[in-house]
Amino acid sequence: MFGTAARQMGYAWSMLAGRRFRVKDVAALVDDLRATLEEFGSPGEGAGEMLTAPDPEMQRDLAARRLRRTVRLTARDTPYYRRWFEQHGIDPASITLDSLASIEPTTKAALRDLPSTFVADRARPAVLAQTTGTTGVPTMVWFSRYEIDLMSGMSALALMLAGGLRPEHVWANCITSRSIAQILIERAVTMTGAAFFHLGVVDPRATLDRLAVPLHVPGKRPQVTHLNTTASYLAALVQEAERGGWHAKDFGLEEIHSGGEVLTDALKERAEAMFGAPVLDGYSMTEIAPVGGQVCGQGHLHLPTDQGHVEVLDPETFRPAAPGAHGVLVVTPYTMYRDTTLLLRYVTGDIVKVLPESETPACELAAVPATSRVLGRLSPSSLTTRDVLDLLQAEHEIPLPTRYALEETRSGPVLHAVTGKVSRALVSRLEERAAELKLPLRGIELVDDPADLPALCRVRADLREHTFEQVTATASARVDKPALRAAAEAVAEIGVR
Ligand SMILES: [Zn+2]
Repeated sequence: MFGTAARQMGYAWSMLAGRRFRVKDVAALVDDLRATLEEFGSPGEGAGEMLTAPDPEMQRDLAARRLRRTVRLTARDTPYYRRWFEQHGIDPASITLDSLASIEPTTKAALRDLPSTFVADRARPAVLAQTTGTTGVPTMVWFSRYEIDLMSGMSALALMLAGGLRPEHVWANCITSRSIAQILIERAVTMTGAAFFHLGVVDPRATLDRLAVPLHVPGKRPQVTHLNTTASYLAALVQEAERGGWHAKDFGLEEIHSGGEVLTDALKERAEAMFGAPVLDGYSMTEIAPVGGQVCGQGHLHLPTDQGHVEVLDPETFRPAAPGAHGVLVVTPYTMYRDTTLLLRYVTGDIVKVLPESETPACELAAVPATSRVLGRLSPSSLTTRDVLDLLQAEHEIPLPTRYALEETRSGPVLHAVTGKVSRALVSRLEERAAELKLPLRGIELVDDPADLPALCRVRADLREHTFEQVTATASARVDKPALRAAAEAVAEIGVR
């Protein structure tokens, strides 16, 4: 059955002690699990426990130990934090959960300006990843082989145990190739035995063709089964699929993973209807990997505590945000996972709401700490990206991906949004709904050209890669495309399954 006792002991010991993993133990566990699944169809008794949290008291004790160790090593080994602790006369060994707040949060700007000062002295940098934030200059984050091997191995375990990924599946990534997620997911997926397809962020018409076209390779489903992308590129695919007359039956998708941007209920429902597959919403970020979260069926974002320490802080004062209030996610990834770019109290910039005291999750992930879903950025008038997207994406007349800009005026913010055809009726509907939702908007202005927005609206779907192919415009064009059909028939005739 799954795993030898020795390997499991080694893995469990690292988990408990907060020390480095032996990467070969993790890789061997992945192989064992895969072999067990192939032979018996299920992981066997006790395997699920590997991914579940121990009891709350033990969890708190482990978190405290991991955090102390992380602070001590980071202060000792990185030029940035070494200097900071020296300048402020704080002994890193004195830091506990209770005194963590005495360490100044680390801003994105600090990391962006001096990335090498966050790299540990003894690190073995292997891969340089760039963040793909839409606000400007990318941040450089170094990763070691240890980090990549460990994180992809653990992702493979999670994909098999929690995600149900199996060797017959075909996983497609439509994310930028500059992201570390590209490497980690490719490795994790192929470790499970499933196939990986880097589709890229190309013309949505080409992507729809790729998702629909039969693959004809042994042991794999006929079409792509899993799609991983950002919310705005998913939006672009939905728009193009609706325009091109595609239907759920054209695709073989079983699961769509959306991350990196705010996913609204309206977009999720529209994508699920178009592609005939559930859309799962997740949270992750290059700088804080492997810390990440999953949105549950009740719409909370659950962030497990075993990979890093997560705080929700007031975005102005950096004091803990009150229940029901907006707060920014501030994350300290543990050094048992990270040994190259080390960060303490990293300010992600991603706004969530602390759950009100009255709201105790009773969902499938209730044991894992939760916040609201990610709300995006917070405007000076306290509007979040999610507030605006919820309003705009409820209207199908407004093209996807949604583009807008908020203009702050003395009497309140004016929302400028791009629509296909500017109509008075649409403005009235939006105004009515904004009033119902109690959004503090002074007015709504629609434009038909993104260039007419008062500020640039960038989304990750804009990280477009070029291809040389001539893409077909619609679903029917694809089906009627003679060359493609001939090729499919030829393959069928040869008997390739
Ligand atoms: Zn929940």
